[in-house]
Amino acid sequence: MPTSLHDLTYPAIERALVADGLRPAHARTLWNAVQREGALALAERTEFLPPLTRWSAEHVGESARFFFDEPALTADTASSDGLTRKFLLRLADGQTVETVLMGYTGRSTACVSTQAGCAMGCVFCATGQMGFVRHLRAGEIVAQVLHVQRELRARRAAGLRNLVLMGMGEPLHNYDAVLTALEILTDDRGVALAPSRVTISTVGVVPGILRLAEEKRAFNLAVSLHSADAAERAALVPASRRWPLDELIAACREYGAKTGRRIFFEWTLIAGANDSPRHAEQVAALLAGMHAHVNLIPLNPTNGFAGTASAGAAAREFQRVLRERGLPSTVRQRRGIDVAAGCGQLRAEKARAA
Ligand code: SAH
Ligand code: SF4
Repeated sequence: MPTSLHDLTYPAIERALVADGLRPAHARTLWNAVQREGALALAERTEFLPPLTRWSAEHVGESARFFFDEPALTADTASSDGLTRKFLLRLADGQTVETVLMGYTGRSTACVSTQAGCAMGCVFCATGQMGFVRHLRAGEIVAQVLHVQRELRARRAAGLRNLVLMGMGEPLHNYDAVLTALEILTDDRGVALAPSRVTISTVGVVPGILRLAEEKRAFNLAVSLHSADAAERAALVPASRRWPLDELIAACREYGAKTGRRIFFEWTLIAGANDSPRHAEQVAALLAGMHAHVNLIPLNPTNGFAGTASAGAAAREFQRVLRERGLPSTVRQRRGIDVAAGCGQLRAEKARAA
C-alpha cells in the first residue's frame, strides 16, 4: 500500500529514510520541502543532495511507495466582505470536503474537516444531514491546512495563526488520525502552529474527551452543547443518547480538573427552541463552577431543518442572563454566511446543483 508523505510525522519520515540508508539530515530537508514549503513535487529541488534526489525519484510519485495528498480545488467562494473563503476540495477517491480560511491578517484562521460526512446526525447540521461517508487520514487533514497556507502565500499574507476543527465531521470519532495531523501541524519544524491556537470541537464524544484529558493535550477543547436539558438536547443531537448529558458534563469536569484548561461550549441559537432566558439559566446551572466560556452562534439555516436563527435581541438577553450568573460568553456571527460557511453547506449545495 502506498503511503502519503503528508501522513508521516517527522520521526516517521526519518525512520523511513534511515531504513533506506539515508542520513537523518535528509529527513530534515525532505520534511522542510513537504511541510514548511508545501511542495507537491520533489523534482528539481536544488537543496536536495544527490542521495535524496535519487530516493525521491525512485520512491515518490504515482504507483510508487509514497505519494502526496493533493486535493483538487472544485469550488472556491469568497464572502461579500472578502474576508472569508470557502474551498471545496476533492480527495483522491472523489469525496469532497470543506475547508475555510477566515481573515487575511496576521491572525488568519483555518477551519478544516476531519471526516467526509458525519455519523452524529445533529438535525440542524448540513453535514449531519448527509450521513457518514468515511474518516479522513491524517494526511488529508494536513493537506487542507497546506492548501490554506498556499492561498495565504499567494496573497503575500502572514502565515496561519489559528486552526479550528469545525469543518465537516466529528474529530473525536476519528481520534488517531486527528491527533497525528495535529502532531504534524504543531511540529515547530513545519507549519508550526502553537497548540494553544488549535481548537478541537466535539459534539460530546465522552471517551475522546477523557482521552484528551488523560494525555494532557495542550489544545483547546470546544464542546457543542446546544441544550442543557437532556431530552431537548437528545432531540437536536442524537449522539447524546449514546453519551448522555450527565456523562458528558462529568467528562468535561474531569477534563478541566486534569488539564487546568478552560472549555468552550458552543451553543447554536435556534429561535424558540433553545434561546429563552430559561435555557440560559439552565446552562448557567449546568456549568456552575466550571472554567467555561460559551460561544453563542445564531443558526445558519439549512435545507434539511425547519428552524431559524434567533433574533439579535434574544441573543443579547441570553447573554445577559449568563453574565448575571457569572458565565462568560461571546455571540459569534458565523462569518461569511453568504459563502454557505455553515459546516457541510457548500458540499450539499454543489450536490443539489449537480
Ligand atoms: N463535529 C464537531 C465539529 C464540527 S461542527 C462538533 O459538532 O462540534 C462545528 C460547529 O458548527 C458545531 O458547534 C456545530 O454545532 C455547528 N453547526 C453545525 N451546523 C450549524 C448550523 N447550521 N448553524 C450554526 N452552527 C452549526
Ligand atoms: Fe457532525 Fe458536528 Fe455536524 Fe453534529 S454538528 S452532525 S457532530 S459535524
